[in-house]
Amino acid sequence: MKRCFLLALFFLLPAFCVAAEDLFEIKLVADGVYAAIAKPTYQVNSNTVIILLGDGVLVVDANSTPTAARSLIEQIKKLTPKPVKYVVNTHFHADHTQGNEAYPNAWPAGVEIISSEATRANLEQRGIPRWKHEFAAMPQEIEQLKSDLQTASSAEQKESIQKKITEAEAYFAELKNIHITLPTMTVDSRLILHRDSRTVEILWLGRAHTDGDLFVFLPAERVLATGDALHGWTPTMRDSYPYEWIKTLDAAEKLDFEYVIGGHGEVIHGKQKFELWKQYFRDLLESTTAAYVEGATMEEAKKRVSEYLTAKYGDKFDHFSQNVAGDVAKAGIAKLARGLLIGRFSHTKR
Ligand SMILES: [Zn+2]
Repeated sequence: MKRCFLLALFFLLPAFCVAAEDLFEIKLVADGVYAAIAKPTYQVNSNTVIILLGDGVLVVDANSTPTAARSLIEQIKKLTPKPVKYVVNTHFHADHTQGNEAYPNAWPAGVEIISSEATRANLEQRGIPRWKHEFAAMPQEIEQLKSDLQTASSAEQKESIQKKITEAEAYFAELKNIHITLPTMTVDSRLILHRDSRTVEILWLGRAHTDGDLFVFLPAERVLATGDALHGWTPTMRDSYPYEWIKTLDAAEKLDFEYVIGGHGEVIHGKQKFELWKQYFRDLLESTTAAYVEGATMEEAKKRVSEYLTAKYGDKFDHFSQNVAGDVAKAGIAKLARGLLIGRFSHTKR
């Protein structure tokens, strides 16, 4: 605790320290392979996969903040005295990359941060502006929470909003000190680490959740890390390529694996989830196309697709809400409207 406090003073960070066990649950998936499953927090945090290599450690994804990554590093040090040598960023989203800086800070002798070429460019061109935008938007978000606190009707509601405010203020305080750290090594389509202890395949299999998603495959242990290309929650469509995503999942599914560690949610056993996700995308795209063909306005299409997806998939994912369905529908429609398949949605009914 004392060390955290000194560290906080040194970096002028808020003087709070979060124990790893408060943020992650570490689960053994295969010999020397662990899933650090992120617990719910105000700012969504990603899972990390910890792979022991004999001479060092490879981790997949670097969490939402340096604080989160640092607390996980403390946990990794309990598993092995070896240094983390490789950090794979599966894609550029903040909840997977904002903790990058913690690794070279912890092991200054050398950590390679590996991503696809597209992810490195995305982080620079979209990740950094989004981080700045979030920083500008957060005071208003916190004000909103404070006004919600005033109008909360029950003690339970008040307690939940107060917790959010505390976490949001801590996140905001940390956000301005983050150094967005770009990958130091990029992969075209395949990078294989051949180690005595195990083989690690880092693969780009096509566009999916973003244009730069990497998968990390352990052929001997039959474990696949999928980032946000597949996980326990509802798919996030904002930067996605839904038609290609189906094909990319087809390619990933051909690999011989038994356990999947996604960017969010629990460890997944087997391949059924791949079928669920592909069917979800097909339904999203078909229902969106049908709404367009029938001449629906954007608002009508969003409502229709959202209701359809909620009815069919509301109980199929670990996390699914009306809002999520709405966002997904909106994102799917926006993709189509941008001319991915069928041209533009009309804003006025024809
Ligand atoms: Zn993501």
